[in-house]
Parts: sequence; structure tokens; C-alpha cells
Amino acid sequence: MRNFDVVVVGAGPAGGQCARWLAKSGYHVLLVEQHETFEKNDFSSAATPLETLEKFDLPEDVVGSFWQNLVIVTTNLTRNWDSPQTLGAVLNFAKLRKFLADEVKSCGGDVWLGYRYMKYAQKQGETLVELKPRGGEPITVTTQVLVDATGPARALIYRKESEKPAFLKPSGIEYLIEVSDNDYEKYANSLWFFLGHKWMPKGYSWIFPMEKPQLKVGAASYRLDHKLIKQTESIRYYIDLLIHEYIQAKDYKIIDIHGSTLHYSSGLQDIYYRDNIIAIGDAVSMVNLLGGEGIRHAMHCAEIAGKHIQKYLKGESASFQDYQKEIYQKFSRSWNLSEKIGMKRYLIESDQKIDEGVSYLAPLETQEMMDILFYYKFEKLSKSLIVYLMRKIRSWWKVKGQGQMTKDK
Ligand SMILES: Cc1cc2nc3c(=O)[nH]c(=O)nc-3n(C[C@H](O)[C@H](O)[C@H](O)COP(=O)(O)OP(=O)(O)OC[C@H]3O[C@@H](n4cnc5c(N)ncnc54)[C@H](O)[C@@H]3O)c2cc1C
Repeated sequence: MRNFDVVVVGAGPAGGQCARWLAKSGYHVLLVEQHETFEKNDFSSAATPLETLEKFDLPEDVVGSFWQNLVIVTTNLTRNWDSPQTLGAVLNFAKLRKFLADEVKSCGGDVWLGYRYMKYAQKQGETLVELKPRGGEPITVTTQVLVDATGPARALIYRKESEKPAFLKPSGIEYLIEVSDNDYEKYANSLWFFLGHKWMPKGYSWIFPMEKPQLKVGAASYRLDHKLIKQTESIRYYIDLLIHEYIQAKDYKIIDIHGSTLHYSSGLQDIYYRDNIIAIGDAVSMVNLLGGEGIRHAMHCAEIAGKHIQKYLKGESASFQDYQKEIYQKFSRSWNLSEKIGMKRYLIESDQKIDEGVSYLAPLETQEMMDILFYYKFEKLSKSLIVYLMRKIRSWWKVKGQGQMTKDK
């Protein structure tokens, strides 16, 4: 029977980064993934700020394209925030996960693709893990620590369904399309987000650039009741709307259609660890509900977990309690606020309110928009609201003044 220090189940960004970090630190790691190739579940749009490449030392080959501008389109208006510098990337999700897995191998770790985690058992101080290759007989390995990086499946950490907290379950679908060079150029260098009842009631939709001449066009829906809208169309309807009505693409080719449903625990109520089992990434709701960004946070959470696993293996700590504390400290406040703002925008507000909200943002610098959308510094919103109100008052006085002058004449 093969023995490992750590078995990581799930080779998404969280599992890949956790296994990479531990393998680099000299531990004997096995990374297991149910799919045989990384192209199989290439579901993520994978837009991310530049920080992700720097912080996790990712090479340019995992990048589909870079971006430097942000655009928000609502039912009635469009606002742009431009920057002379690159602000982020749209990653190639398959290449990112393959890179992380290759790094694990190059540091002496094992990567088993096409193996599904089945169950574990604790016997005489050992943790036995059963893994089943596609069409083959199950194999058992032993480990000191077992990591649940299976994302929304949370295949390890919960022993039964009834232990799971209630989840919010937003679903997203995305088309990877090839368009004409002309159409591509219009959307190159920018992340385009679409809000409002016309483009995506109960959520948002997007156009992100990939390698020329490909675009990612997608939509996500929170699948809960909206206070004002009673009936909506399918997610695919809203993607088609972007392709046909917004981009007005005539000759386009669909290269791939992918998507997934996130399972997010409101208020971060997940189970984080049990004995020597620890959950990371989307298995502990690391995706941020406001914009659906999860890759950077899953990788960050994986590194925090890596540090605590190392302490555990060295005998410096007997449980993963401090891991849970650290995650709460780093994420819970921003996550709760993001959830509140997101739910209000996507499930309560009228089109007029959404337009107003986006108009408040107009006076902000691009960096301030980045701070709000990617770093959850919501205090910047009050500055934009003050500038917006001052402008309104100024234009009101101007109109009033002109009215007075006409009367005087
Ligand atoms: C449509 C959509 C668009 C998104 N866009 C963005 C974006 O633009 N930017 C961003 O940062 N984030 C985005 N996200 C979120 C982001 O992709 C996730 O937050 C991130 O992938 C979470 O990483 P993870 O490793 O925790 O989980 P996952 O990426 O879900 O990985 C879990 C892995 O576990 C494997 N697995 C599950 N069960 C088993 C089992 N029993 N045995 C073996 N393996 C198993 C799965 O096959 C999978 O590979 C998007 C998500 C969706 C759905």
C-alpha cells in the first residue's frame, strides 16, 4: 500500500495550489482528480487581478489575455474605467490547473488523474483512502492528512447530507466563441460586466477577452425569487442576447460551452476540519458572491491551509482550529458585506436603482473601482456617493439659476 504525508482530493485551483505548496515544502503529496484531463471541466471564466500571477508565481502561458479597463453596462447606461497599465488577466483555467499539477510532479509529488475519491476510514491510527480509477478496481492509500478540495461537491468533509448547512446555489454558463477580428478588438483589453433586468435579472452577465479572436460570453443567475421580477428566461437566453444584440456578432463559432453551480454557505457556516481532514477553497465557500471571483481566494486559502498542515505534521498543533480562525479573520467580514450587496443588487433592486448605483461609481478612479470589485474596500463607495450627490446638487442649482434668469428677463 502506498503511504503519503498528505492526500489532496480535487485538482482545482485550491487543491493544485495546496499540493504544490506542500510538495515544495518537502512533503510526500498525492493530488487526485476525478477527470482524466484538465480540459474536461474547464468551467471557469477565470478573470483575475494581476496580483494572482505575482502572488502565486504563475507563468504567462496560463494567461488567455490581459485586461486594463473595466466596463459596466446596465439596461440604460454604460460606464468605463480605463487604465494605462495592465490590471489583470483572463486565465486559461485548464492550463492553470495543469501547471499547478505539473509543479506538484516536478517537486516529487504524485498526480493521479481519472481517479475518483470513494471513501476513507480511520484504522489503528492510520487514514485509509479509497480511490477508484475509471473502469478499474479501487486502490487504497494511507495518509497522515486528507484534504477536501472537491469544491461544491464537498465529497469528504461531510459524513451525511444532513450535516450540510443551507447553500446559496448560483449557476453560471459560459460560451467560448470565436468572432471576427473587428468584433474581437472592441472587447479586447477590457472586462465587460452587464447588470440590470434586460441583460441578466437575478444575476449578471459578462464578456471577457481570451486569446485573439476568442471571447468568453457568460451569465450567472442566483436562482432565487426576485422582489420585482416574476418571470425570467433561461441563462442561455441571456448569453444569446449578448452575442446577438450587444456584440451583434454575425460570423461567430462556438468553441465550447461550459458552466457549473456554486454552493456557497451564507455566513461561512461550513465545516472546516474534522480530525485530520481539512477542507479548502470552494469546499469552504471561498468564492466571493459579489462578482463570483474564486480562484485567487481558493489559492490563498490553500496556502493558509498548507501552513497549518505543516504545523500539524511537525506535531506543533493537534487540530486545525487555528486554520478556521485565520480564514474567518481574513474573509468573513468582506464576504458577508459582499453577499449583502450582491443579493440586494441581483434580487431586490429595480433597473432605476441599478442605474443609480452605477452612476454613483462614475466619479471613481479606476484603481478605486479595482479596490471595490476585487479588494472589497466598500468604504470607497461613500466617496463616490458624496461626489455623485454634489454633482446632482450643482446641476440642480444650475438649472434653478437658469430658470431664475429667464424669469428676470
Ligand atoms: C461559470 C463560472 C465562472 C466563474 N468565473 C470566475 C472568474 O472569472 N474568476 C474567478 O476567480 N473565479 C471564477 N469562478 C469561480 C472559480 O472558478 C471557483 O471559485 C474555483 O474554481 C474554486 O476552486 P476549487 O479548487 O476550490 O474548486 P473547483 O475548481 O471546483 O475544483 C474541485 C475539483 O475537485 C474535483 N472533484 C470533485 N469531486 C471529486 C471526487 N469525488 N474525486 C476526485 N476529484 C473530485 C473536481 O472535478 C474539480 O476538479 C467561476 C465559477 C463559475 C461556475
